[in-house]
Amino acid sequence: MMLQRAEGEMVTASMPGTANRPGIRSTSTRQPGIDGSASRCRVGEVRQQRRGFPRRRDLEQTATDVIVIGSGATGATIAYVLAHNGIRVTCIDLDARGAGVTASAFGWICTTHNRIGSELHREAIADFRALDANLGGALSISWAGSLTWFQAPEHTESYLRRQQGLGLPTEAVDAEDFGRLEPSLRRRPEIAAYAPQEGAVAPGRMRRTLLAAARDNGVRLVEAPVSEIAVGIDGRAQVFSDAGVFNARYVVLANELGAPRLAAQVGTVLEVESSPAIRYTFRATAPLSRRVLSGPDYEIRPWHRGTYLGAADYVTSEGPHRPVIRVHRALDAIRRDFGVRNPLQLLDFRVGYRPMPTAGRPYLGALRTAPQVLVACMHAGITLAPAAARRVLHHITGTAELASI
Ligand SMILES: Cc1cc2nc3c(=O)[nH]c(=O)nc-3n(C[C@H](O)[C@H](O)[C@H](O)COP(=O)(O)OP(=O)(O)OC[C@H]3O[C@@H](n4cnc5c(N)ncnc54)[C@H](O)[C@@H]3O)c2cc1C
Repeated sequence: MMLQRAEGEMVTASMPGTANRPGIRSTSTRQPGIDGSASRCRVGEVRQQRRGFPRRRDLEQTATDVIVIGSGATGATIAYVLAHNGIRVTCIDLDARGAGVTASAFGWICTTHNRIGSELHREAIADFRALDANLGGALSISWAGSLTWFQAPEHTESYLRRQQGLGLPTEAVDAEDFGRLEPSLRRRPEIAAYAPQEGAVAPGRMRRTLLAAARDNGVRLVEAPVSEIAVGIDGRAQVFSDAGVFNARYVVLANELGAPRLAAQVGTVLEVESSPAIRYTFRATAPLSRRVLSGPDYEIRPWHRGTYLGAADYVTSEGPHRPVIRVHRALDAIRRDFGVRNPLQLLDFRVGYRPMPTAGRPYLGALRTAPQVLVACMHAGITLAPAAARRVLHHITGTAELASI
Protein backbone atom coordinates (compact mmCIF):
# COMPACT_ATOMS: atom_id res chain seq x y z
CA MET A 1 0.00 0.00 0.00
CA MET A 2 1.17 3.47 -0.82
CA LEU A 3 2.22 5.75 1.95
CA GLN A 4 -0.08 8.73 2.06
CA ARG A 5 0.86 12.18 3.20
CA ALA A 6 -0.84 13.43 6.30
CA GLU A 7 -1.98 16.71 7.71
CA GLY A 8 -1.09 18.77 4.66
CA GLU A 9 2.66 18.30 5.07
CA MET A 10 4.25 21.08 3.02
CA VAL A 11 7.65 22.64 3.23
CA THR A 12 9.08 24.83 0.51
CA ALA A 13 11.73 23.02 -1.40
CA SER A 14 15.40 23.97 -1.39
CA MET A 15 14.92 26.65 1.19
CA PRO A 16 17.89 28.62 2.37
CA GLY A 17 18.28 29.83 5.92
CA THR A 18 16.27 32.99 5.70
CA ALA A 19 16.34 34.23 9.24
CA ASN A 20 19.14 35.98 10.99
CA ARG A 21 21.11 33.48 12.97
CA PRO A 22 21.80 34.57 16.47
CA GLY A 23 25.36 35.49 17.25
CA ILE A 24 27.59 32.52 17.92
CA ARG A 25 29.49 32.78 21.13
CA SER A 26 32.36 30.72 22.33
CA THR A 27 31.77 27.33 23.90
CA SER A 28 30.79 27.42 27.51
CA THR A 29 31.63 24.82 30.08
CA ARG A 30 27.92 24.49 30.74
CA GLN A 31 26.17 21.66 29.05
CA PRO A 32 24.13 22.85 26.09
CA GLY A 33 20.58 21.58 26.18
CA ILE A 34 17.38 21.52 24.21
CA ASP A 35 16.07 24.44 26.17
CA GLY A 36 18.93 26.51 24.78
CA SER A 37 19.60 27.78 28.29
CA ALA A 38 23.29 27.13 27.99
CA SER A 39 25.58 29.32 25.94
CA ARG A 40 25.72 28.64 22.26
CA CYS A 41 28.58 26.46 21.16
CA ARG A 42 30.77 26.78 18.12
CA VAL A 43 31.84 24.00 15.83
CA GLY A 44 34.51 25.12 13.38
CA GLU A 45 34.96 28.63 12.17
CA VAL A 46 32.17 31.16 11.96
CA ARG A 47 31.35 32.30 8.47
CA GLN A 48 28.93 34.87 7.29
CA GLN A 49 25.44 33.59 6.68
CA ARG A 50 24.14 33.81 3.16
CA ARG A 51 20.78 35.22 2.41
CA GLY A 52 18.47 34.64 -0.49
CA PHE A 53 17.85 31.59 -2.58
CA PRO A 54 21.01 29.55 -2.98
CA ARG A 55 22.44 28.60 -6.33
CA ARG A 56 23.77 25.07 -6.62
CA ARG A 57 27.41 26.06 -6.31
CA ASP A 58 26.63 28.27 -3.32
CA LEU A 59 24.98 25.36 -1.59
CA GLU A 60 28.10 23.30 -1.89
CA GLN A 61 30.35 26.09 -0.68
CA THR A 62 28.32 27.40 2.23
CA ALA A 63 29.82 26.41 5.55
CA THR A 64 28.04 23.59 7.31
CA ASP A 65 29.03 21.84 10.51
CA VAL A 66 26.45 19.10 10.32
CA ILE A 67 24.41 17.63 7.49
CA VAL A 68 21.22 15.92 8.60
CA ILE A 69 19.83 13.48 6.03
CA GLY A 70 16.07 13.17 6.47
CA SER A 71 13.53 15.70 7.72
CA GLY A 72 11.01 13.41 9.40
CA ALA A 73 10.36 13.77 13.14
CA THR A 74 13.90 12.60 13.93
CA GLY A 75 15.81 14.72 11.40
CA ALA A 76 13.68 17.84 12.00
CA THR A 77 14.20 17.61 15.77
CA ILE A 78 17.94 17.07 15.47
CA ALA A 79 18.30 19.91 12.95
CA TYR A 80 16.39 22.28 15.22
CA VAL A 81 18.19 21.36 18.44
CA LEU A 82 21.63 21.65 16.83
CA ALA A 83 20.86 24.97 15.11
CA HIS A 84 19.28 26.37 18.25
CA ASN A 85 22.60 25.73 19.97
CA GLY A 86 24.57 27.61 17.36
CA ILE A 87 25.60 24.78 15.04
CA ARG A 88 25.41 25.35 11.28
CA VAL A 89 23.12 22.71 9.86
CA THR A 90 22.03 21.66 6.40
CA CYS A 91 19.08 19.27 6.30
CA ILE A 92 18.54 17.30 3.10
CA ASP A 93 15.40 15.36 2.25
CA LEU A 94 14.43 13.80 -1.04
CA ASP A 95 10.91 15.17 -0.58
CA ALA A 96 10.48 18.51 1.16
CA ARG A 97 6.95 17.50 2.22
CA GLY A 98 8.43 14.51 4.03
CA ALA A 99 8.18 11.15 2.30
CA GLY A 100 8.72 9.13 5.43
CA VAL A 101 6.77 7.28 8.05
CA THR A 102 6.23 10.27 10.38
CA ALA A 103 3.11 11.26 8.44
CA SER A 104 1.56 7.87 9.26
CA ALA A 105 2.39 7.77 12.97
CA PHE A 106 -0.12 7.57 15.81
CA GLY A 107 1.83 10.10 17.88
CA TRP A 108 1.80 8.45 21.29
CA ILE A 109 4.70 9.71 23.37
CA CYS A 110 5.13 6.29 24.80
CA THR A 111 8.01 5.08 26.90
CA THR A 112 6.31 2.17 28.61
CA HIS A 113 5.65 -0.12 25.64
CA ASN A 114 9.14 -1.43 25.23
CA ARG A 115 11.06 -4.34 26.60
CA ILE A 116 14.37 -2.62 27.21
CA GLY A 117 13.69 0.43 29.36
CA SER A 118 16.85 2.12 28.12
CA GLU A 119 18.08 5.41 29.51
CA LEU A 120 16.94 6.97 26.25
CA HIS A 121 13.38 5.79 26.96
CA ARG A 122 13.54 6.90 30.58
CA GLU A 123 14.66 10.40 29.57
CA ALA A 124 12.29 10.73 26.61
CA ILE A 125 9.38 12.43 28.40
CA ALA A 126 11.56 15.03 30.13
CA ASP A 127 13.26 15.82 26.83
CA PHE A 128 9.92 16.13 25.06
CA ARG A 129 8.65 18.51 27.72
CA ALA A 130 11.85 20.58 27.52
CA LEU A 131 11.65 20.78 23.74
CA ASP A 132 8.01 21.84 23.81
CA ALA A 133 8.70 24.45 26.49
CA ASN A 134 11.56 25.75 24.37
CA LEU A 135 9.12 26.13 21.47
CA GLY A 136 6.61 27.94 23.67
CA GLY A 137 4.17 25.02 23.67
CA ALA A 138 3.90 25.05 19.85
CA LEU A 139 3.82 21.23 19.72
CA SER A 140 0.38 21.29 21.42
CA ILE A 141 0.97 18.04 23.27
CA SER A 142 -1.80 16.41 25.25
CA TRP A 143 -0.22 15.11 28.47
CA ALA A 144 -3.23 13.06 29.55
CA GLY A 145 -1.36 9.78 30.00
CA SER A 146 -2.24 6.33 28.73
CA LEU A 147 -4.03 3.18 29.87
CA THR A 148 -2.91 -0.27 28.76
CA TRP A 149 -4.59 -3.60 29.41
CA PHE A 150 -4.60 -7.10 28.03
CA GLN A 151 -7.34 -9.71 27.63
CA ALA A 152 -6.26 -11.65 30.71
CA PRO A 153 -5.78 -9.63 33.95
CA GLU A 154 -2.71 -11.73 34.81
CA HIS A 155 -1.04 -10.52 31.60
CA THR A 156 -1.69 -6.93 32.63
CA GLU A 157 -0.25 -7.70 36.08
CA SER A 158 2.93 -9.21 34.65
CA TYR A 159 3.19 -6.30 32.21
CA LEU A 160 2.97 -3.89 35.16
CA ARG A 161 5.63 -5.78 37.10
CA ARG A 162 7.99 -5.86 34.12
CA GLN A 163 7.58 -2.17 33.26
CA GLN A 164 7.97 -1.10 36.89
CA GLY A 165 11.06 -3.33 37.15
CA LEU A 166 12.53 -1.51 34.16
CA GLY A 167 11.99 1.81 35.94
CA LEU A 168 9.20 2.88 33.56
CA PRO A 169 6.56 4.61 35.70
CA THR A 170 3.23 2.77 35.50
CA GLU A 171 0.61 2.26 38.18
CA ALA A 172 -2.15 -0.31 38.51
CA VAL A 173 -5.74 0.94 38.30
CA ASP A 174 -8.86 -1.13 38.97
CA ALA A 175 -12.16 -0.88 37.11
CA GLU A 176 -13.46 1.85 39.44
CA ASP A 177 -10.40 4.07 38.98
CA PHE A 178 -10.52 3.32 35.29
CA GLY A 179 -14.12 4.59 35.23
CA ARG A 180 -13.06 7.86 36.81
CA LEU A 181 -10.35 8.31 34.19
CA GLU A 182 -12.41 7.12 31.24
CA PRO A 183 -16.12 7.42 32.08
CA SER A 184 -17.28 6.73 28.51
CA LEU A 185 -15.83 3.22 28.39
CA ARG A 186 -18.54 0.83 29.55
CA ARG A 187 -16.68 -2.50 29.40
CA ARG A 188 -13.78 -1.79 31.71
CA PRO A 189 -10.89 -4.10 32.43
CA GLU A 190 -10.43 -5.45 35.95
CA ILE A 191 -6.93 -4.02 35.99
CA ALA A 192 -5.02 -1.67 33.71
CA ALA A 193 -1.59 -0.05 33.63
CA TYR A 194 -1.81 3.72 33.88
CA ALA A 195 1.15 5.80 32.66
CA PRO A 196 0.11 9.32 33.71
CA GLN A 197 3.26 10.99 32.41
CA GLU A 198 2.75 9.98 28.78
CA GLY A 199 1.25 12.14 26.08
CA ALA A 200 0.26 12.42 22.46
CA VAL A 201 1.34 14.76 19.69
CA ALA A 202 0.26 15.29 16.08
CA PRO A 203 3.30 13.90 14.23
CA GLY A 204 2.86 16.01 11.08
CA ARG A 205 2.45 19.16 13.12
CA MET A 206 5.51 18.24 15.18
CA ARG A 207 7.59 17.87 12.01
CA ARG A 208 6.32 21.11 10.46
CA THR A 209 6.78 23.10 13.67
CA LEU A 210 10.33 21.87 14.16
CA LEU A 211 11.30 22.48 10.54
CA ALA A 212 9.94 26.04 10.69
CA ALA A 213 11.83 26.64 13.94
CA ALA A 214 14.93 25.04 12.45
CA ARG A 215 14.72 27.40 9.48
CA ASP A 216 14.31 30.36 11.82
CA ASN A 217 17.51 29.23 13.51
CA GLY A 218 19.38 29.22 10.21
CA VAL A 219 19.05 25.62 9.04
CA ARG A 220 19.27 25.28 5.27
CA LEU A 221 16.67 22.87 3.95
CA VAL A 222 17.55 21.24 0.67
CA GLU A 223 15.24 19.02 -1.33
CA ALA A 224 17.30 16.32 -3.04
CA PRO A 225 17.87 12.59 -2.80
CA VAL A 226 21.17 11.60 -1.23
CA SER A 227 22.82 8.82 -3.21
CA GLU A 228 26.08 8.36 -1.38
CA ILE A 229 28.14 9.30 1.65
CA ALA A 230 31.90 9.09 2.09
CA VAL A 231 34.73 10.47 4.19
CA GLY A 232 37.11 12.77 2.30
CA ILE A 233 40.89 12.79 2.67
CA ASP A 234 40.52 15.89 4.87
CA GLY A 235 38.49 13.74 7.31
CA ARG A 236 35.25 15.58 6.58
CA ALA A 237 32.05 13.80 5.78
CA GLN A 238 30.92 14.05 2.19
CA VAL A 239 27.33 13.80 1.06
CA PHE A 240 26.54 13.27 -2.62
CA SER A 241 23.09 14.40 -3.67
CA ASP A 242 21.17 15.57 -6.69
CA ALA A 243 21.73 19.14 -5.43
CA GLY A 244 25.50 18.68 -5.37
CA VAL A 245 28.19 17.52 -2.97
CA PHE A 246 28.11 18.75 0.62
CA ASN A 247 30.96 18.61 3.11
CA ALA A 248 30.64 18.83 6.86
CA ARG A 249 32.28 17.76 10.05
CA TYR A 250 29.42 15.37 10.78
CA VAL A 251 26.60 13.78 8.88
CA VAL A 252 23.56 12.43 10.72
CA LEU A 253 21.65 9.60 9.07
CA ALA A 254 18.04 10.33 10.06
CA ASN A 255 16.59 8.81 6.91
CA GLU A 256 15.21 5.71 8.67
CA LEU A 257 14.87 2.79 6.23
CA GLY A 258 17.40 4.48 3.90
CA ALA A 259 20.09 4.63 6.62
CA PRO A 260 21.46 1.05 6.18
CA ARG A 261 22.31 1.63 2.51
CA LEU A 262 24.27 4.81 3.31
CA ALA A 263 25.99 3.30 6.38
CA ALA A 264 27.11 0.34 4.26
CA GLN A 265 28.94 2.76 1.96
CA VAL A 266 31.27 3.65 4.84
CA GLY A 267 31.65 0.06 6.00
CA THR A 268 28.95 -0.51 8.63
CA VAL A 269 26.09 -2.97 8.41
CA LEU A 270 22.93 -1.76 10.14
CA GLU A 271 20.26 -4.37 10.61
CA VAL A 272 16.93 -2.65 10.22
CA GLU A 273 13.66 -4.24 9.20
CA SER A 274 10.63 -2.55 7.79
CA SER A 275 7.67 -3.11 10.10
CA PRO A 276 4.26 -2.09 8.75
CA ALA A 277 1.56 -0.63 10.95
CA ILE A 278 -1.86 0.84 10.28
CA ARG A 279 -3.14 4.24 11.32
CA TYR A 280 -6.80 5.08 10.89
CA THR A 281 -9.00 8.07 11.66
CA PHE A 282 -12.67 7.85 12.56
CA ARG A 283 -15.49 10.02 13.77
CA ALA A 284 -17.81 9.22 16.67
CA THR A 285 -21.08 10.97 17.48
CA ALA A 286 -20.51 10.52 21.24
CA PRO A 287 -17.31 11.26 23.20
CA LEU A 288 -14.99 8.28 23.53
CA SER A 289 -11.53 8.26 25.13
CA ARG A 290 -9.82 11.20 26.82
CA ARG A 291 -6.35 9.77 26.54
CA VAL A 292 -4.43 6.97 24.78
CA LEU A 293 -6.16 3.64 25.33
CA SER A 294 -4.27 0.51 24.40
CA GLY A 295 -6.41 -2.58 24.81
CA PRO A 296 -6.37 -6.06 23.28
CA ASP A 297 -8.68 -5.09 20.39
CA TYR A 298 -7.73 -1.51 19.60
CA GLU A 299 -5.40 1.39 20.33
CA ILE A 300 -7.10 4.79 20.13
CA ARG A 301 -6.70 8.39 21.17
CA PRO A 302 -8.58 11.67 20.70
CA TRP A 303 -7.76 13.60 17.54
CA HIS A 304 -9.55 16.75 16.28
CA ARG A 305 -13.18 17.71 17.06
CA GLY A 306 -15.01 14.46 17.58
CA THR A 307 -12.51 12.39 15.63
CA TYR A 308 -10.14 9.75 16.95
CA LEU A 309 -6.98 8.09 15.75
CA GLY A 310 -6.44 4.36 15.90
CA ALA A 311 -3.37 2.23 15.31
CA ALA A 312 -2.78 -1.46 14.74
CA ASP A 313 0.12 -3.71 13.85
CA TYR A 314 -0.01 -5.37 10.48
CA VAL A 315 1.89 -8.28 8.99
CA THR A 316 2.20 -8.01 5.20
CA SER A 317 1.97 -11.79 4.80
CA GLU A 318 -1.63 -11.49 5.99
CA GLY A 319 -2.55 -10.18 2.51
CA PRO A 320 -3.48 -6.83 1.00
CA HIS A 321 -7.05 -6.66 2.39
CA ARG A 322 -6.01 -7.40 5.94
CA PRO A 323 -5.58 -3.76 7.03
CA VAL A 324 -9.20 -2.89 6.13
CA ILE A 325 -10.48 -5.99 7.89
CA ARG A 326 -8.41 -5.18 10.96
CA VAL A 327 -9.65 -1.61 11.09
CA HIS A 328 -13.30 -2.65 10.81
CA ARG A 329 -12.83 -5.26 13.55
CA ALA A 330 -11.28 -2.60 15.77
CA LEU A 331 -14.17 -0.21 15.09
CA ASP A 332 -16.67 -2.94 16.00
CA ALA A 333 -14.83 -3.58 19.27
CA ILE A 334 -14.78 0.15 20.07
CA ARG A 335 -18.55 0.40 19.50
CA ARG A 336 -19.09 -2.64 21.71
CA ASP A 337 -16.86 -1.43 24.57
CA PHE A 338 -18.14 2.16 24.56
CA GLY A 339 -21.74 1.10 23.99
CA VAL A 340 -22.00 3.36 20.93
CA ARG A 341 -25.19 2.86 18.92
CA ASN A 342 -24.35 4.80 15.76
CA PRO A 343 -21.70 3.43 13.42
CA LEU A 344 -18.25 4.95 13.69
CA GLN A 345 -17.35 6.75 10.48
CA LEU A 346 -14.00 5.69 9.05
CA LEU A 347 -12.35 8.81 7.59
CA ASP A 348 -8.91 7.63 6.58
CA PHE A 349 -6.53 4.76 6.93
CA ARG A 350 -2.98 4.23 5.84
CA VAL A 351 -0.12 1.80 6.28
CA GLY A 352 3.28 3.17 7.28
CA TYR A 353 6.56 1.30 7.38
CA ARG A 354 8.42 1.72 10.63
CA PRO A 355 12.16 1.27 10.82
CA MET A 356 12.72 -1.58 13.29
CA PRO A 357 16.34 -2.24 14.30
CA THR A 358 16.39 -6.03 14.54
CA ALA A 359 18.27 -6.09 17.85
CA GLY A 360 15.31 -4.29 19.45
CA ARG A 361 17.40 -1.29 20.49
CA PRO A 362 17.38 2.03 18.68
CA TYR A 363 20.44 2.80 16.59
CA LEU A 364 21.77 5.99 18.08
CA GLY A 365 25.51 6.41 17.84
CA ALA A 366 28.63 7.10 15.80
CA LEU A 367 29.88 4.55 13.30
CA ARG A 368 33.14 2.84 14.29
CA THR A 369 34.13 2.70 10.63
CA ALA A 370 33.48 6.44 10.15
CA PRO A 371 33.04 8.41 13.38
CA GLN A 372 31.94 11.45 11.34
CA VAL A 373 28.76 9.53 10.56
CA LEU A 374 26.10 9.51 13.27
CA VAL A 375 22.96 7.38 13.07
CA ALA A 376 19.53 8.02 14.59
CA CYS A 377 17.26 5.21 13.45
CA MET A 378 14.55 4.38 15.97
CA HIS A 379 11.37 2.39 16.06
CA ALA A 380 9.51 4.84 18.32
CA GLY A 381 11.00 7.80 16.52
CA ILE A 382 8.35 10.31 17.59
CA THR A 383 8.83 9.51 21.27
CA LEU A 384 12.61 9.34 21.17
CA ALA A 385 13.42 12.21 18.79
CA PRO A 386 13.95 14.93 21.45
CA ALA A 387 16.09 12.68 23.69
CA ALA A 388 18.09 11.53 20.66
CA ALA A 389 18.58 15.12 19.47
CA ARG A 390 20.00 16.17 22.84
CA ARG A 391 22.46 13.29 22.77
CA VAL A 392 23.56 14.12 19.23
CA LEU A 393 24.09 17.71 20.36
CA HIS A 394 26.20 16.62 23.34
CA HIS A 395 28.28 14.33 21.15
CA ILE A 396 28.98 17.06 18.61
CA THR A 397 29.84 19.62 21.25
CA GLY A 398 32.02 17.14 23.13
CA THR A 399 29.90 17.11 26.29
CA ALA A 400 29.06 13.40 26.22
CA GLU A 401 29.90 10.69 23.71
CA LEU A 402 27.37 8.67 21.82
CA ALA A 403 27.83 4.92 21.74
CA SER A 404 29.83 3.43 18.89
CA ILE A 405 27.96 1.33 16.38
C1 LIG B 1 0.91 3.36 12.13
C2 LIG B 1 2.13 3.85 12.87
C3 LIG B 1 2.00 4.29 14.18
C4 LIG B 1 3.14 4.75 14.85
N1 LIG B 1 2.96 5.22 16.11
C5 LIG B 1 3.98 5.72 16.79
C6 LIG B 1 3.77 6.25 18.08
O1 LIG B 1 2.66 6.27 18.58
N2 LIG B 1 4.86 6.74 18.76
C7 LIG B 1 6.12 6.73 18.20
O2 LIG B 1 7.06 7.17 18.87
N3 LIG B 1 6.34 6.22 16.97
C8 LIG B 1 5.30 5.72 16.25
N4 LIG B 1 5.50 5.21 15.00
C9 LIG B 1 6.87 5.16 14.49
C10 LIG B 1 7.27 6.52 13.97
O3 LIG B 1 6.38 6.91 12.94
C11 LIG B 1 8.68 6.50 13.43
O4 LIG B 1 9.58 5.89 14.34
C12 LIG B 1 9.17 7.93 13.16
O5 LIG B 1 8.20 8.66 12.44
C13 LIG B 1 10.48 7.88 12.40
O6 LIG B 1 10.80 9.21 12.05
P1 LIG B 1 12.06 9.47 11.16
O7 LIG B 1 12.21 10.93 11.05
O8 LIG B 1 13.21 8.67 11.68
O9 LIG B 1 11.69 8.81 9.75
P2 LIG B 1 10.82 9.39 8.55
O10 LIG B 1 9.65 10.16 9.00
O11 LIG B 1 10.57 8.23 7.65
O12 LIG B 1 11.79 10.42 7.85
C14 LIG B 1 12.88 10.02 7.08
C15 LIG B 1 13.05 11.02 5.97
O13 LIG B 1 14.23 10.66 5.24
C16 LIG B 1 14.00 10.97 3.89
N5 LIG B 1 14.93 10.17 3.11
C17 LIG B 1 15.01 8.82 3.04
N6 LIG B 1 16.04 8.44 2.26
C18 LIG B 1 16.60 9.59 1.80
C19 LIG B 1 17.70 9.86 0.92
N7 LIG B 1 18.44 8.89 0.37
N8 LIG B 1 18.01 11.16 0.66
C20 LIG B 1 17.30 12.16 1.24
N9 LIG B 1 16.25 11.94 2.05
C21 LIG B 1 15.91 10.69 2.35
C22 LIG B 1 12.54 10.64 3.65
O14 LIG B 1 12.04 11.38 2.56
C23 LIG B 1 11.89 11.04 4.97
O15 LIG B 1 11.30 12.32 4.93
C24 LIG B 1 4.41 4.75 14.25
C25 LIG B 1 4.53 4.33 12.94
C26 LIG B 1 3.40 3.89 12.25
C27 LIG B 1 3.54 3.47 10.82
